[in-house]
Amino acid sequence: MTTPVRVTVFGENVHEHSSPVVAKIYPQGMHTCIADTLNQDAGLRAGTVTLQMPEHGLTQAVLDATDVLFWWGHAAHDQVQDAVVERIAARVLAGMGLVVLHSGHHAKIFKKLMGHTCDLHWREAGEKERLWITAPGHPIVAGISGGFFELEHEEMYGEPFGIPEPQETILVSWFQGGEVFRSGATWRRGAGKIFYFRPGHETYPTYHDANVQRILRNAAHWARPEGS
Ligand code: ZN
Repeated sequence: MTTPVRVTVFGENVHEHSSPVVAKIYPQGMHTCIADTLNQDAGLRAGTVTLQMPEHGLTQAVLDATDVLFWWGHAAHDQVQDAVVERIAARVLAGMGLVVLHSGHHAKIFKKLMGHTCDLHWREAGEKERLWITAPGHPIVAGISGGFFELEHEEMYGEPFGIPEPQETILVSWFQGGEVFRSGATWRRGAGKIFYFRPGHETYPTYHDANVQRILRNAAHWARPEGS
């Protein structure tokens, strides 16, 4: 039996305490929901850290024992310490995987590794999102049948997305309002693999969706360091 992939889920853990709507959908926090989802897979072993912990829980020892780091942030990107961002970036270059979720597009670590604005257009109107699979057979979308899946209510993100051209574009979203967006994209930085996955606005139950959960688990396996 192969060793489980060691995952650390970073949760900003702010909206859960400021919004009753978010607290109701994610009573234990979004990070706990994401970690629970990952831990349904015996090949993954996920723990959580939050912004509020010393060094955001991302000490060198924790990062050294992390194969893949998941990142959800939104309201407090500027509170993430630059020294921790540097530490994470070094680990990615050395082979740690990084999965950046939703509003993490403006996280310091993502912008640093992308070297671009990572800007986008957005609208919070509870629109339907259809995520088209543009890379059939890619391990990140394994088990998703029918060519697409839908989320009934999500925040809209629209192109142009200020990212460097992805290595692979795995998912493209269409929104009810007509916009499109590169919702699943990969890059390599040094020895590390990076996956950006768009869905996950805090006021919708997106991380309870079975297809989203499957992609999160697939991404954890895909992003593990080569040879581990
Ligand atoms: Zn959002």
